Amino acid sequence: VDELRLIEAIEGALRARDRRVLRWLGDDAAVVRARGVAVTSIDTVADGVHFELSTHSSADVGHKALAAALSDLAAMGAEPGQAYVSLALPGSLGAQEALELMEGMETLADRTGTTIAGGDVVRSAALVVSVAVNGWAEQEGELVYRDGARPGDLLGVTGELGGSGAGLLLLQGQEVELPEAARQRLLERHRRPLPRLEAGAALAAAGASAMIDVSDGVAADAAHLARSSGVSIEVRLADLPLADGVELVARAAEVDPAELAATSGDDFELLLTASPSSRGSVESAARSAGAPLSWLGEVAEGSGIGFVDARGRRPRLRGYEHL
Ligand SMILES: [Mg+2]
Repeated sequence: VDELRLIEAIEGALRARDRRVLRWLGDDAAVVRARGVAVTSIDTVADGVHFELSTHSSADVGHKALAAALSDLAAMGAEPGQAYVSLALPGSLGAQEALELMEGMETLADRTGTTIAGGDVVRSAALVVSVAVNGWAEQEGELVYRDGARPGDLLGVTGELGGSGAGLLLLQGQEVELPEAARQRLLERHRRPLPRLEAGAALAAAGASAMIDVSDGVAADAAHLARSSGVSIEVRLADLPLADGVELVARAAEVDPAELAATSGDDFELLLTASPSSRGSVESAARSAGAPLSWLGEVAEGSGIGFVDARGRRPRLRGYEHL
């Protein structure tokens, strides 16, 4: 890989779409006109750990690396601003694939109003992509943290769950009879997740008390909310909104569908809590942001998370503390 020519090609593929970006690629550092509060997160993905180049195109990898970072901004209710990218490229990855990786990322940047404002390229033994994102809000009060859940609050989630986990099972060779359209949607869900930026900002403005993006799976992410907020959370497994096809894939893999949906990661939906009095405004905020909302549990005093199934039993999900 001729690094200088690659960097030139990458710079040619990127666009600045934010007038606050005063200096970007091509100077020693980016210069951005600040707003009230900066919200910053970084995410790294590595070949063989977070994805396999045998089942993901390099454009998929670029998309997913930025999507995962932006999802953290969505979970804060912040508006996306700039992304900074470190590309560690193995000799086995050609310049064309590296460029396609950045083009995949740029397509999502365009869709979300993000400017890829800087980065670097280094040689490495394996493909590793780090993406730092900066989001903005006028005031801290516009943001939502993980620690605001209170006893009596409702637990809700946007969109659908289990799609990414079911897509991963398909990529790993799970055989199942599935309509082709559903199969493609599950694979897309795994390879090209979309961060819920619009919903995150709308839910924050509508009074969500705590929020987190579903990156580790609802069970683990609800446990993060419970721990940060000093409360307990009960999740009703029957109310998990399963993505189309998840049930069939789970049954083929001999996994309980609700358990797959609760414990598989990378759905990048938003898990939130809200007081009963803000239930209506949170529902309409989600609706107008184009994100279906499902209520799937309750917050109480105590600690840890628990699960209750459709028959009122309290199944144990492997790896989770119980009430
Ligand atoms: Mg997160």
